[in-house]
Amino acid sequence: MLTVSSVGRVFPGGIEALRDTSLRMDETDFIALLGPSGCGKSTLLRLIAGLDQPDSGRLDWDGGPPVPGDIGYVFQDATLLPWATAEDNVFLPLRLRGMARAEAMPRVHAALHRVGLAGFEAARPGALSGGMRMRVSIARALVTRPRLLLMDEPFAALDEFTRHRLQADLLEVWREAGCTVVFVTHSIYEAAFLARRIVLMTPRPGKIEREIRSSLQPAAETRLDPAYAALVAEVSRAMAAALA
Ligand code: ADP
Ligand code: MG
Repeated sequence: MLTVSSVGRVFPGGIEALRDTSLRMDETDFIALLGPSGCGKSTLLRLIAGLDQPDSGRLDWDGGPPVPGDIGYVFQDATLLPWATAEDNVFLPLRLRGMARAEAMPRVHAALHRVGLAGFEAARPGALSGGMRMRVSIARALVTRPRLLLMDEPFAALDEFTRHRLQADLLEVWREAGCTVVFVTHSIYEAAFLARRIVLMTPRPGKIEREIRSSLQPAAETRLDPAYAALVAEVSRAMAAALA
């Protein structure tokens, strides 16, 4: 899908956010970008989204650059319009692309249904829990049927029980939607639970240190699975060594 080759990004003031970063993303990958705060995870995600440009290196898309709607972006804050209903929040990206309401509604409702919010179409963000607001945000990202879903610490502000539910539900959404997910997190547990490919990043300058592949088939019982514990231990050791 996308090849990131030797990308570097230096911000004004001289902060080298990324150095010589290379990563290939394929169709249906689930990649976790894992690392401590400030190691350049969000910077890399913004470069992939085309929200920022690299100072060196290049990004090559198979079959040409993405068109609007090919990329979905989910932030840590749900960033919903507070005065608009869940339905209208999810409709927004289609409205911005000129789609009529009547034409869009089946897709809007399907996206809300997919994230478990059937019946909450008319609710405003203020009436929803943090987890439900994040579900609306994910539905809004899915409604354009993106090929690539970029998620920047989307569950970091949620309580642990809600986070576990959303992680499990995200995996189901990913399997159904058949898109590629790049998921930024600073949680080893989260990366190990979700991702097929765990990409370790280290700071100053931000770079990709190594990648660990997972063969777990995550399900509800996975958190109790010794294979999951072993993967968490492997990633923890690798991260500690990379940061030493
Ligand atoms: P992460 O998401 O891993 O926490 P970021 O990609 O946000 O890290 O930031 C990497 C580094 O670049 C940090 O030192 C951060 O302060 C710096 N940085 C990020 N964005 C900007 C910006 N727009 N201007 C200047 N420095 C920035
Ligand atoms: Mg960040």
